[in-house]
Amino acid sequence: MTEPTESKTDVLIIGAGPSGLMAAAWMAHMGVKARIVDKRNTKIFSGQADGLQCRSLEIFDSLGFGDRAWKEAHHMIEICMWNPGQDGVIRRSDRIPDTIVGLSRFQQIVLHQGRIERFFLDNIKKYSGDTIHVERGVLPESLEIDADKVDDDEAYPVTVKLRTLSAEEATPQQQITGSKVADGLFRSNLINEDDEADLIKKSAARAGATEIVHAKYVIGCDGARSWTRRALGFELVGEATDFIWGVMDIIPFTDFPDIRMRCAIHSAKNGSLMVIPRENKMVRLYIQLKEVTPDASGRADRSKITPDIIFSAAQKILAPYKIDYEYCDWWTAYQIGQRVGTSFDAHNRVFLAGDAVHTHSPKAGQGMNVSMQDCYNLGWKVGLVAQGIAKRSILSSYQSERRQIAQDLIDFDHKFSRLFSGRPAKDVMDAEGVSMEEFKDAFLKGNMFASGLSVNYGPSTIVAKPGDAAEQEDFEKKQALATGLPVGMRFNSFKVLNQADARPWHFQERLKADGRFRVVLFAGDILKPEQKARVDKFCELLDAPASFLHRATPEGQAIDGVIEVLTIHSSKRVDTELLRDFPAILHPLDPHRGWDYDKVFVDDVSYHEGYGDAYKNYGVDRERGCVVVVRPDQYVAWVGELDDFEHLERYFAGCLVLRA
Ligand code: FAD
Repeated sequence: MTEPTESKTDVLIIGAGPSGLMAAAWMAHMGVKARIVDKRNTKIFSGQADGLQCRSLEIFDSLGFGDRAWKEAHHMIEICMWNPGQDGVIRRSDRIPDTIVGLSRFQQIVLHQGRIERFFLDNIKKYSGDTIHVERGVLPESLEIDADKVDDDEAYPVTVKLRTLSAEEATPQQQITGSKVADGLFRSNLINEDDEADLIKKSAARAGATEIVHAKYVIGCDGARSWTRRALGFELVGEATDFIWGVMDIIPFTDFPDIRMRCAIHSAKNGSLMVIPRENKMVRLYIQLKEVTPDASGRADRSKITPDIIFSAAQKILAPYKIDYEYCDWWTAYQIGQRVGTSFDAHNRVFLAGDAVHTHSPKAGQGMNVSMQDCYNLGWKVGLVAQGIAKRSILSSYQSERRQIAQDLIDFDHKFSRLFSGRPAKDVMDAEGVSMEEFKDAFLKGNMFASGLSVNYGPSTIVAKPGDAAEQEDFEKKQALATGLPVGMRFNSFKVLNQADARPWHFQERLKADGRFRVVLFAGDILKPEQKARVDKFCELLDAPASFLHRATPEGQAIDGVIEVLTIHSSKRVDTELLRDFPAILHPLDPHRGWDYDKVFVDDVSYHEGYGDAYKNYGVDRERGCVVVVRPDQYVAWVGELDDFEHLERYFAGCLVLRA
């Protein structure tokens, strides 16, 4: 046996599912020294999660691959509800839009997890210059935290022992026996060409080799049975439900008219079915298995479930319509468990994310989304702290922000699963049955939650909200300056024009995931002398050598390297000039590359893409404007007047390391 090698890394990510890949993407975009390991020897090729919320698409867009997902996916436009009539025969009883209209520039889509992982892998490769890639077939064997060193910014207090597996050990087992069709982790016949490279098994030359890694931070993204969670001694608390569900991805032959719509079907006696149309003519069926019940211990024996059992249940629910298939891409069966982790971090040095800290039913399409969003919340914080740009104290906000989301998700899932799995009420007197009105209402309300856009983070060092009632009145005054940009929620998007070249942009497109905070200066009507004087004063303070902007920027870095200042003004574009009317700090001069023409925008009418009416939509006064701070993950962090400079400075002094 050879001696283990030793190495150091700033961030070690365990698990390369959607949440681990999101964490790795941040490290790649921010230039943080990081590694990501996974015990499997390939990525996912079929099945598992498929629904992508609007918020996930906004996030993908900030990383640079929203367009790939948008083009390839199936778009979900309408939901049809099917319920039994008085005669017990199912009928279409309602149609609602799948995504609440006007909520986001994206709508919900479906694309299987393997493609999402592909996009991440390509993106990480591109942005890290191929320095971060998934090290497959690698298993952690021990994890220790040196508690004496956790407060030392320079220390590597987490030690993880890694072992490289043999090809056999790294190949996942079929989860359910009794079927020739892959149940999740194997190759799909519909695999895309750019996935072929992943099929080549990695060399087993290093099999058995061990390595001791010293890390500043570790992120455990290793799924529902998380090894990292167990190594920390943390638990998932909650319960398993009695509802057993089967899932099949098939290409159907059917006379059911809404097979290309998302459908929620309640039969009179045979249970419920969810239809999710997919890419490549596929359809996913989520089927309640009424004939499979848990044993005395509360667990169902999944090994007894076969595709035939699942499919015949689907046929009964859909009757009198007929359904059949020749090709099944993937199938699985599960018992819904609704659990949340007791803790999301240890010493703010080891973090847990994704399925490792919350499990729930997959029907509401939340699992992959919420898991990725955990790491979209965490990744930049860890990255900035590891780089010495942000204070370590910001890391506590991960648990306070995301544990609440996980709990909300479980509550939502609890309600949704009960309504979906319950028997339809025969009439208003049938108290045990589920009223279809109640179901529709829950679906409509759930749509807001399911979009991922209802997230509203509480007060912390990075969200300037009142901690107590005494601060409430002052906060409300500030919030009134931008009523469409609630502090704690994601920065909504409306179209504005680039001042220099008149090109329309969705403003959110300018909020790239690169780890930078943004100060958005709503400059108001800068052609009014009084307002111009306020803007000039704000910029003078901003550009003073002792300002937070200069002190947050490491020596030698460009002035927009840590905090980028973006401007939206409300004067007419053609009456204003970038260089004449806007102080230089709003479009900084690079000695080698000239003025920055991509930082000043105007709320005006475009030639080809209409009018975004941004000031009105953001609820900002067109004359006086205001200032808004946006976190690197696009959440609104602070709102104030142009004259509140000291307050603004205090915000940054609270979370960033400002040079003396
Ligand atoms: P995962 O995707 O589970 O990724 C964890 C990663 O960690 C894996 O790559 C794994 O190989 C790796 N790993 C695990 N242990 C270790 C270890 N000790 N060392 C190193 N690496 C390790 N969601 C839906 O919305 N709809 C569905 O139909 C659906 N079906 C599913 C079916 C199955 C069989 C599974 C497992 C999940 C399903 N999900 C579904 C859930 C969805 O896939 C997850 O919510 C989502 O993938 C969570 O992402 P994650 O990155 O947190 O975890």
